[in-house]
Amino acid sequence: MEAQLLQTQPVHSHRTYGHFIDGSLSDASVTLIDRHSPADGRLLARFSAGTSQDVDAAVAAALKAFNRENWRDLSGSARAGLLNKLADLIADNADYLVRLEAEESAKATKMSVYELAMVVEMTRFAASLAVTEKGETHTQLGPLSLGLVTKEPCGVVGMIVPWNFPLICLFQKLPYALAAGCTVVIKPSELTSSTALEIARLASTAGFPQGVINVVTGTGTAVGEALTSHPDVSLISFTGSTGVGRHIAGKCGEAVKRVALELGGKGANIVFADADLDAALDGVLFGFVFNQGEVCAAGSRLLIEESVADAFVSKLAERAKRIVVGHPMDKNADMSALIHEGHMNKVLGYVADGQKEGAILTCGGERLQGQAYDNGFFVGPTILTEVTSSMRVFREEIFGPVLCVTKFKTQEEAIHLANSTDFGLANGVWSKDIDKIFTVARQLKSGTVFANTFLEAAPQLPQGGVKKSGFGRENGLDALNEYLDTKQTYVKL
Ligand code: NAD
Repeated sequence: MEAQLLQTQPVHSHRTYGHFIDGSLSDASVTLIDRHSPADGRLLARFSAGTSQDVDAAVAAALKAFNRENWRDLSGSARAGLLNKLADLIADNADYLVRLEAEESAKATKMSVYELAMVVEMTRFAASLAVTEKGETHTQLGPLSLGLVTKEPCGVVGMIVPWNFPLICLFQKLPYALAAGCTVVIKPSELTSSTALEIARLASTAGFPQGVINVVTGTGTAVGEALTSHPDVSLISFTGSTGVGRHIAGKCGEAVKRVALELGGKGANIVFADADLDAALDGVLFGFVFNQGEVCAAGSRLLIEESVADAFVSKLAERAKRIVVGHPMDKNADMSALIHEGHMNKVLGYVADGQKEGAILTCGGERLQGQAYDNGFFVGPTILTEVTSSMRVFREEIFGPVLCVTKFKTQEEAIHLANSTDFGLANGVWSKDIDKIFTVARQLKSGTVFANTFLEAAPQLPQGGVKKSGFGRENGLDALNEYLDTKQTYVKL
């Protein structure tokens, strides 16, 4: 059985993949993209550099499965059964998938274990939606008139995903699109494509018909562009940077094609003096070191009430120094390497830039040295204080383990500072005063507000951004609706 085959793959030999199209993995192409470990430099995997012809073949397979093979008309309970079977197979193969995910995206194994658990939960939740989705009936339209509102799957969906959470980002889309009755072509990041391909193989073992799930690997400029502009793709669901998202939205606009965008963020944790400060220390630390800060919803800014600021930051720096930075396979590691050298240099460049603009480096801020780190791109938890709202480090997404600290005196000032970036993904507020929590939460311009916690996630809750963090929602009932077209049928009796 394919699932057992997955588990017996040798751990330290690299994998070479073709694309997954129409139910099977093709031979690898002549041109390959090598993925080396950002933590130790080993060759981990070789992915086929896809072309527009590969995208054409994948979209044709997805369209055939949608229309002629009747995936669109399969009952919700049949689709739910397949999704639950897929969830079982993912759980059975979790150890192997955890390893692939941790190695390629250089996340600590602990993070990857969490990621796999979320993936299983999201798949089961989406399965439950497949059997509970409802339409509307209108009987008050006048004599002998009846109105029906029904939902129909929108067709072939192109899914373009990033490298920071290759599986979570994919599963905030995939099971919902499948539950809705859509077929899909996935374009994973060229840095982290293994798990999407392995999931497609597991889905085939679970019994998903050929062509329902396809994966084409390769670059954004070749595969991503071809998928975005393909006339038979009805919707592009994109997760990635705001710059690429803007470009994709422009192309979809020209083609009058639906698009959903999950983009960057610059979240703030607002800590009031009346908060449980010990809990806030844990939440703020987690918010910027989780996955090395390579998190769209990271709490990369701390807005701290002036009266408690100095003591809070000095305790935070002490805790930050105890964070274990290590190899993805080190079970004790809390954080691992940054995704590649260029990204590490960008993160360190921001830290230097912040200092030039007047911020004070309190801890971290340099590439880690020493035997365990020499072949990788490791940066420890970094705290910049005295950050003002005019600085680039305050306004731009750094996407590394860097916290920018700004003091405030009043509630109004805290809200104003939190909203003073182009992004609007997630913010946090810490206080024991429930009135204050709700007053502040209502005024924060973000798709998510965490209160007395940070970076919690549940499949039931819709997630997405406002402002330049994008539009569209993933998870929750909203996620299913992203993939459905609404139709009215007006009947004269
Ligand atoms: P990216 O925008 O560089 O790439 C994302 C994906 O788009 C990749 O698969 C890439 O190959 C593809 N791509 C690149 N150029 C393309 C083009 N011209 N046409 C079509 N596809 C193209 O982002 P990244 O560096 O992989 O990921 C980091 C970014 O993702 C950060 O900004 C982060 O905030 C964001 N992100 C957002 C969320 C969210 O839910 N809002 C979640 C995770 C990551």
